[in-house]
Amino acid sequence: MSGFFNQISRRKFILTAGASASSVFLKGCLGNPPENLTGGSSQAVPTAQTVANLAPEQTPETKSVKLGYIPIVEAAPLIIAKEKGFFAKYGMTEVDLSKQASWGSARDNVEIGSAGGGIDGGQWQMPMPHLITEGIITKGNQKIPMYVLCQLITHGNGIAIANKHQGKIGLQLASAKSLFTELKSSTPFTAAQTFPHVNQDFWIRYWLAAGGINPDTDVKLLTVPAAQTVANMKTGTMDAFSTGDPWPYRIVTDKIGFMAALTAEIWKNHPEEYLAMRADWVDKHPKATKAILKGIMEAQQWLDNFDNRKEAAQILAGRNYFNLPSPEILADPFQGKYDMGDGRKIDDKSMAAYYWKDEKGSVSYPYKSHDLWFITESVRWGFLPKDYITNNAAKAKELINKVNREDIWKEAAKEAGITAADIPTSTSRGVEEFFDGVKFDPEKPEAYLKSLTIKKVSL
Ligand code: CA
Repeated sequence: MSGFFNQISRRKFILTAGASASSVFLKGCLGNPPENLTGGSSQAVPTAQTVANLAPEQTPETKSVKLGYIPIVEAAPLIIAKEKGFFAKYGMTEVDLSKQASWGSARDNVEIGSAGGGIDGGQWQMPMPHLITEGIITKGNQKIPMYVLCQLITHGNGIAIANKHQGKIGLQLASAKSLFTELKSSTPFTAAQTFPHVNQDFWIRYWLAAGGINPDTDVKLLTVPAAQTVANMKTGTMDAFSTGDPWPYRIVTDKIGFMAALTAEIWKNHPEEYLAMRADWVDKHPKATKAILKGIMEAQQWLDNFDNRKEAAQILAGRNYFNLPSPEILADPFQGKYDMGDGRKIDDKSMAAYYWKDEKGSVSYPYKSHDLWFITESVRWGFLPKDYITNNAAKAKELINKVNREDIWKEAAKEAGITAADIPTSTSRGVEEFFDGVKFDPEKPEAYLKSLTIKKVSL
């Protein structure tokens, strides 16, 4: 046993010399140039007194940071932290949230950093921070070290299917196999994710493979930005897509399709998207990083109070952010109510998106065992070579230990006065179980891969 899942990282922040203890004063206006796709509001920030009480050791080195987001419910903690003044409360009065046109743009923007007009970090599918760190998805394979700092959300994602497949496709695909085979000989079943080799690709692949459909040979998989998924299904070019709310639910409300599965059905309380930042920014601004985390943690707690979710839906649906025709599209899913569009109705709060805590414990905490599942699943489909997982996953663990900064999360949580019960003591959430009964034991990733029938890797 490597002790990977019970070690306590000894890495400490490199303290920046000369950080000033001066009080933080809010600017009269936090607005941004109109051409900037930033959702700013000067009304929701707290009063100057709220931010003036920061102890010197908690006063951030900078008040400003530029974080990217994609307009899906995963981004809610960032948007709420800004709009409800939680970033400002911890001294981050100039957080610029920058809407990204696609995951590819987010990747390009973090490559150049805010100094070059890009972003310092933001919302990521997994394992994008690891792939950027390794230089696998960057231009010229340049290695850009990133740190994963917290998980933003669990649930809130789904697999949407075009209406022409009503009655033929559902969560369980056993009876749909002949349909896929039939289509394969003419126009293969076409499914889209929002960026290759990350979450949405994994959810659709897991669901298909669990039903006996090989995602590499039985269907065609494409990449489409989340905001374009509805349009593409409308024009009939897509049979299925996998992304975050509100997009899957919108095809139901727009009556162009139905939902075969919520990701909450595929893997209850699954890891979803994360906050990650450029390592150079974090190393230079350790206190500001913790201030950002504290703001996000407070937003996550606020979001998990279901009484706040109507207001959350209103803020997110706004023109600056998701630009939805109505906040109602978010309101029902936020309460765990899904009209699946095929006659199936879900009304179960445990299926809603969670931001701070779920049935299994912390959502916000970045468990290393979840990073390992994403790396293992990457090996499953041939996205990463198998030497990441063989040899007791030594290579995967080395990468995860470099990228995952749960130690910073813990420091921020303690500074924010988070109760000890809400701070996990293990970096493993233990054995995970999927809807088809398959289990992932983070101590034995290779055994998990061996147990799977449909996969690309040969072990
Ligand atoms: Ca997602």
